[in-house]
Amino acid sequence: MKKLNILFASSEVVPFAKTGGLADVSGMLPRVLANMGHFVKVFMPKYGTIDKSLLKNAHKDLVTVIPMSDGPRTLELYRISDNNLDYDTHFIGNDFYFGRPELYRDTKTGKDFVDNDDRFIFFCRGILEVLKKIDFVPDIIHANDWQTALLPTFLKTKYVDDKFFAQTKSIFTIHNLAYQGLFPAKSFVKLGLDKKLFYATGPFEFWDKLNLMKSAIHYADKINTVSETYAKEIQSSEELGAGLQGVLTERKKDVSGIINGVDYQEWSPSKDKLIPHKFSSVNLSGKRMSKIELMKRIGLPDREHIPLIGMISRLADQKGFDLVREAGKNIMQLDIQMIILGTGEEKYHKWLVRLQDKHPDKLKVLLKYDNELAHWIEAAADIFLMPSRYEPCGLNQLYSLKYGTIPIVRKTGGLADTIENADFDTGIGTGLVFEDYDSKEMLAAIKYALPYYMKKRKWRKIMKNGMEKDYSWSASAEKYIELYKKTISSG
Ligand code: ADP
Repeated sequence: MKKLNILFASSEVVPFAKTGGLADVSGMLPRVLANMGHFVKVFMPKYGTIDKSLLKNAHKDLVTVIPMSDGPRTLELYRISDNNLDYDTHFIGNDFYFGRPELYRDTKTGKDFVDNDDRFIFFCRGILEVLKKIDFVPDIIHANDWQTALLPTFLKTKYVDDKFFAQTKSIFTIHNLAYQGLFPAKSFVKLGLDKKLFYATGPFEFWDKLNLMKSAIHYADKINTVSETYAKEIQSSEELGAGLQGVLTERKKDVSGIINGVDYQEWSPSKDKLIPHKFSSVNLSGKRMSKIELMKRIGLPDREHIPLIGMISRLADQKGFDLVREAGKNIMQLDIQMIILGTGEEKYHKWLVRLQDKHPDKLKVLLKYDNELAHWIEAAADIFLMPSRYEPCGLNQLYSLKYGTIPIVRKTGGLADTIENADFDTGIGTGLVFEDYDSKEMLAAIKYALPYYMKKRKWRKIMKNGMEKDYSWSASAEKYIELYKKTISSG
């Protein structure tokens, strides 16, 4: 097997920085690729938020200067190398751009940093310049989401005649098409490209704005998303295509979907170091004990015969919180308890707190980001609710399967591809899947499940079907290697 030189670029990578599923993927997939014997370099920004202890072994490799539209900026390159693998994590450092208390947003204004265009132009140009300095010629540059969109774009524009990259191909993975990297048209000059490239319906222009994701869809050698269904949905649905379905359809032949995997070292109930009691599909007593501990910790009464519904999510429209709001009163009338962990839009914070105040014995709302609690909830809950409007892949439904927490999901994107609709009487399936984005359908799915909670044998059969599923990264990583090879040989 020919070893590939793979450069994987991402704006967030576990354990260094995370706001969502992209970080989980970026912390795991490249490592699995290195384990398969490839040379892998991961690039991410050196944020001020990264825990200092994680960087204590970082080696400062070089200092260089990147020309930006407002003058030269210094780039410091740091690296952490793995002792056992051809696997390096590189950090693009510049305190002015990245030494801030948040990844993308200004806490003072609650809005995106106004110079996010400069920050990620610097990041992408920085990577390409640094590669030459460290003499790493990638066979594949794998870019992820809009923050790295300029990698495939620059390769086909600014660096198109650069011999160093003559053999380098690019892949652009869309983890969420809704975040496109939109900036005022005047930001285009900051890219330092020929002005003629910015024209109505061209690779960069989007309703009089600059759209970085659009440019990557135009220029990348191949494009993929994180599930097969989402790959189809973004080409066929006006809503999910988010204005880019035309560009995606033009590239139809080059668009595909590969489902994300799970890091089962972190997310499996028999190994999980964060949960109070471990368990497995053959011994579930730790799940019951974890529920008792969780209820104590969060201050809900423990009611053994009542199912606990969990939600862990960004509180965003995407995640189906308007359905939960519509059905909120009806859900609270059911014989259930519920725990919701998440942060996000203010409107949902306020409404959830009000609902909790009315139903203090039934509902606990935790408005924060807390990884340990996320593990505890997966371990303790009986049902996991994920009624997304759209879901490129989704990770929590996969974690839920492993933890015997029966997922109730909407049939969209990765949820449709990973959860098989269950019939408790015949014992098939892994969760409940409702079709339309409709609160009544969601409520009906919850109501269908509830009576089976006391029919332990039937409930456990569906739990076990899910616990036995294997969504580890190896199968998905093989698919990425196939995609890389296809891209390299595509001339
Ligand atoms: P997305 O990337 O769209 O937010 P995913 O389901 O792909 O959704 O991934 C979300 C990841 O973030 C999961 O690992 C989930 O456990 C985690 N997560 C989301 N909200 C929280 C929270 N409030 N506290 C802890 N972890 C969270």
